[in-house]
Amino acid sequence: HRADVAMYESKRAGTHGWRMFHPEMTDRRDRDAALADALVTAAGDGQFGLAYQPLVDLSTGDPVAVEALLRWDHPVLGPISPAEFVPIAERTGAITGIGHWVLEQACRQVQQWRLSGAGDLYASVNVSARQLQEHSFLGDVITVLHRTGLPAEALVLEITESAIVDEEVAIPALEALRRHGIRVAVDDFGTGYSSLHLLTQLPVDVLKIDRSFVAKLDGTTRGAGVAEAVIRLAQVLGLSTVAEGIETTAQVAELQLLGCSVAQGYLFARPMPAAEFTASLTERARA
Ligand code: C2E
Ligand code: MG
Ligand code: MG
Ligand code: MG
Repeated sequence: HRADVAMYESKRAGTHGWRMFHPEMTDRRDRDAALADALVTAAGDGQFGLAYQPLVDLSTGDPVAVEALLRWDHPVLGPISPAEFVPIAERTGAITGIGHWVLEQACRQVQQWRLSGAGDLYASVNVSARQLQEHSFLGDVITVLHRTGLPAEALVLEITESAIVDEEVAIPALEALRRHGIRVAVDDFGTGYSSLHLLTQLPVDVLKIDRSFVAKLDGTTRGAGVAEAVIRLAQVLGLSTVAEGIETTAQVAELQLLGCSVAQGYLFARPMPAAEFTASLTERARA
């Protein structure tokens, strides 16, 4: 059903041509430009979807939250990883519209799960630097909460350290969100370049330990202690921690010893369509 080669109208400002899409488009710059164009109409064409990955309480095995992860299935190029297209969408600015769609979808879905018996489940939503810089961001988030019925306490916004480079803008924006009861998590913590000084100033609630540090947990190589150091740092600063990318039971045991009680990773579940998570909730309720 997928055409081998298709042509799409280029809707990018200033260009009014047609551009070719090949499934095996290999030149990086051609592909980036094609993706930038395709992103303009992808949302309206219903090409985006969300996958949900549970965050698990390690002592009970219960899901306490779900992280919403954006999925893009392009009609010609097929599924494209967010690791590839999110940076492009950030560069073109398309991420603000896309991010708003993600937020609304995720809040609505999680509120539906809460109302159907999932209790205090909360939504964890990735937010890019561009969104945080928008003057309308706080108002947009509050509007989405009202429209979807999700309480502010049930929303965590995940930002990366690089989203905070402009502290003058980021810190007041984060403070305003937290005044409204919305929590903030630093994603991929330890992979950016924020200083310890900045961290003490940051109005955040959670550090998400990057999976590169979790992967080293059960080894003896240099770096095995970094996850522990992050957990201690969080304790000193009064923040909670979530470990990312758990793939082995040894990592679970180690994290529990270190005092990190919430984690996500392929060991528990891969990101899945909403219907699949609904089924797993039903399964749990029956057990
Ligand atoms: P992230 O926010 O750090 O999300 C976690 C990524 O790790 C996801 O990749 C997830 O599928 C993957 N992952 C989870 N458990 C494991 C594991 O046990 N092992 C391994 N190897 N990987 C695991 P995904 O879905 O490809 O997303 C990649 C990145 O794209 C995200 O990293 C996030 O930075 C960005 N992204 C995704 N959705 C959105 C969005 O809606 N908005 C924005 N701004 N960025 C997004
Ligand atoms: Mg994230
Ligand atoms: Mg992460
Ligand atoms: Mg990441």
